[in-house]
Amino acid sequence: MKEQEYFNVADIFGENVFNDSVMRERLPKKTYQKMKEVISQGRELDPETADVVAHEMKEWAIEKGATHYTHWFQPLTGVTAEKHDSFITAPMSNGKVLMSFSGKELIKGEPDASSFPSGGLRATFEARGYTAWDCTSPAFVRQDAAGATLCIPTAFCSYTGEALDQKTPLLRSMEAVSKQSVRLLRLFGNTTSQRVMPSVGAEQEYFIVDRAKYLQRKDLVYTGRTLFGAMPPKGQEMDDHYFGAIRERIAAYMRDVNIELWKLGVSSKTQHNEVAPAQHELAPIYAEANVAVDHNQLIMETLKKVAGRNGLQCLLHEKPFAGVNGSGKHNNWSLVTDDGINLLEPGKTPHDNIQFLLVLACILRAVDEHADLLRESAADVGNDHRLGANEAPPAIISVYLGEQLQDVLTQLIDTGAATHSISGAKLETGVKTLPDFMKDATDRNRTSPFAFTGNKFEFRMVGSQDSVGEPNIVLNTIVAEAFADVCDILEKAEDFDLAVHDLIKQLVTDHQRIVFNGNGYSDAWVEEAERRGLPNIKSMVEAIPALTTDKSIALFERFGVFTKAELESRAEVEYELYAKEINIEAKTMIDIAGKQIIPAVIKYATELGTSINTIKAACDADVSVQTELLVEVSDLLADTKVALAKLQEVVAEGLTMEENESRAKFYHDEVFKAMEELRAPVDALEMLVDKEAWPMPSYGDLIFEV
Ligand code: ADP
Ligand code: MG
Repeated sequence: MKEQEYFNVADIFGENVFNDSVMRERLPKKTYQKMKEVISQGRELDPETADVVAHEMKEWAIEKGATHYTHWFQPLTGVTAEKHDSFITAPMSNGKVLMSFSGKELIKGEPDASSFPSGGLRATFEARGYTAWDCTSPAFVRQDAAGATLCIPTAFCSYTGEALDQKTPLLRSMEAVSKQSVRLLRLFGNTTSQRVMPSVGAEQEYFIVDRAKYLQRKDLVYTGRTLFGAMPPKGQEMDDHYFGAIRERIAAYMRDVNIELWKLGVSSKTQHNEVAPAQHELAPIYAEANVAVDHNQLIMETLKKVAGRNGLQCLLHEKPFAGVNGSGKHNNWSLVTDDGINLLEPGKTPHDNIQFLLVLACILRAVDEHADLLRESAADVGNDHRLGANEAPPAIISVYLGEQLQDVLTQLIDTGAATHSISGAKLETGVKTLPDFMKDATDRNRTSPFAFTGNKFEFRMVGSQDSVGEPNIVLNTIVAEAFADVCDILEKAEDFDLAVHDLIKQLVTDHQRIVFNGNGYSDAWVEEAERRGLPNIKSMVEAIPALTTDKSIALFERFGVFTKAELESRAEVEYELYAKEINIEAKTMIDIAGKQIIPAVIKYATELGTSINTIKAACDADVSVQTELLVEVSDLLADTKVALAKLQEVVAEGLTMEENESRAKFYHDEVFKAMEELRAPVDALEMLVDKEAWPMPSYGDLIFEV
């Protein structure tokens, strides 16, 4: 164990971030004022200011040991990308170099972007792509074994201005929802708030395994999940891991992760063990959506990097182990004004908080009308193992409101007026020495994909390795649309009070089918949802078409978030990605089955055969056990070979297909099915074959022995 050093979090927090206090300290007053305006009012940055900021940023970064800078961006691959340039200029006549960094280099970068997915938006002969500084997300210095680098969060666009990343549309959607929210606030007499920002807190789940064992599993190395593996005798049925005491090795790792994140200004706050053995969670304090999306990427990067340093491996895949809970990301979302008012705060008596009720009614409408888009925003290849595959959360979008709000809604629908709110009762523990306290008015519901949790909505469908960019783009835009439509009506109303009252009643009545407060995991809900006409989209391939419906194109174009061409390109990128990932998984299975499993089983079968013959030759003993085992193993071996041949055949066919929707469907319907058919006999063999002879660590070794 390392010697423990103690430190004060407040001292290290944000020490590697070019944040407001660094700018205030280092920039000339005028430049600082200008930068503040640019950031808080979304103004354009002039070249002189950019030059001064760039120079100071470079000086500051060099003091932190930085030799390089990089435009840090989020292409459609799901992970971040960067291209490093050093600060040095061409050598001078005396052979020395200067360190320089201009405003132009800060603001604009030009990575040769032709190899990032663009879904046909950019032909390879028009390979130019630009990265542009998102100055509302602060630059930071990342220090690690590879040195220190100044990272500048950027958006990534094509030569013709189309978005090739998550950031650009996210920023557009934030502007859209801000503008419409301000309109709505003005109707209620608010004249002071200038901007309304979506606040996002993304809770991140992950698995930790031992790195040496991880390296012996080629499936984990190549695909991030196990493609074979029988269940250990103990799974998660005892629920003894959830919130259990954190083991020392993991605790030491979490501490290193936290230190790293705090230095980067990521307010890592909560950590605990999750439901499955070896599964954990980290949650930061919420931030403005674009910063939160960046921070979530930093959290994922840091979890992986620090694990390696500690002899561990972090698995961010949605389903690293079959039969054990998968990992997701809870996207907590609310709307907060620049002067600190949360539009989703119901107050103690929501029934008389008309503005809140209107906001809520709009969100119900938005989620009901665009459930398919929300579902799509959470689709990624790994998440197919969770959504709609008998695991939390269900693939059907519904909204949980809880007892108190449900009651207000029912009053509105039944009588047209809400006159009272249920309040939290006193919690009496029955133990004199424990304090009694007031309970929340509403209990929690863990099974809802979209739950109201006090003063925010929690979208729980997102996959653990996915960016939270897309879910927030969708949320911001669909809510902007609902706000815009109600403002169009209310701004013209003669009697505002009457009009708003009628509108709320109408919206909650029209969209009450999306509200569901019961058990989202039950089969009864699947049937009930079908009766209500709610979509149940079971896979990524089935979810992608939601991007390019007329309804979706009209929505995104109306708010300038995506053009039709951008949406079509995104759909194309996703189809390609799906086929590619499944193809890698299938090829990895073929490799492992052919080169590791079949040889190991043959060896074991031969040993059994030799043992039978040896014993028979020596005496008249009963060899029925060995013989039975040999027959069983040999049968399964034959099944394995047949399934392997079938998988090889479909993969070969898939590779000949054109990259498009039908190829993705083929990988979903044929290749994925063939993979499952190969897995079955192999997992059965694992239960029969001598553990010493099995060529890789088992589930038990991986998840119980960290
Ligand atoms: P819970 O356990 O109920 O989900 P937490 O307080 O642990 O609640 O919050 C989970 C995440 O939600 C954290 O990242 C937190 O910062 C974030 N969060 C809290 N309030 C808000 C809010 N108003 N808007 C957005 N995110 C929020
Ligand atoms: Mg939560």
